[in-house]
Amino acid sequence: MAKDGCTGKVRHPDKTSACIAARRMKSAAMDVYQCRKCAGWHIGNSRKPNRVQKRIDQILQRTDRDAARRAARYRAAAYVEERKG
Ligand SMILES: [Zn+2]
Repeated sequence: MAKDGCTGKVRHPDKTSACIAARRMKSAAMDVYQCRKCAGWHIGNSRKPNRVQKRIDQILQRTDRDAARRAARYRAAAYVEERKG
């Protein structure tokens, strides 16, 4: 059996999607890693679940913050448009 960590695995286009998918599995013992074979991101078992979970949370928090900032900017722009009209 091929044990290259690629065959039969779900491939994610970037780290964030892999992290989100790992989180959906609701398992702390999941690690995301970039594949040397296909250059995509896979989810695998981690030897250091707690540290990895912390990192996943950090990445997701960062993207959440970015989304919140974009939403705030959009709301501000919409508010200005309202006042003009
Ligand atoms: Zn792969």
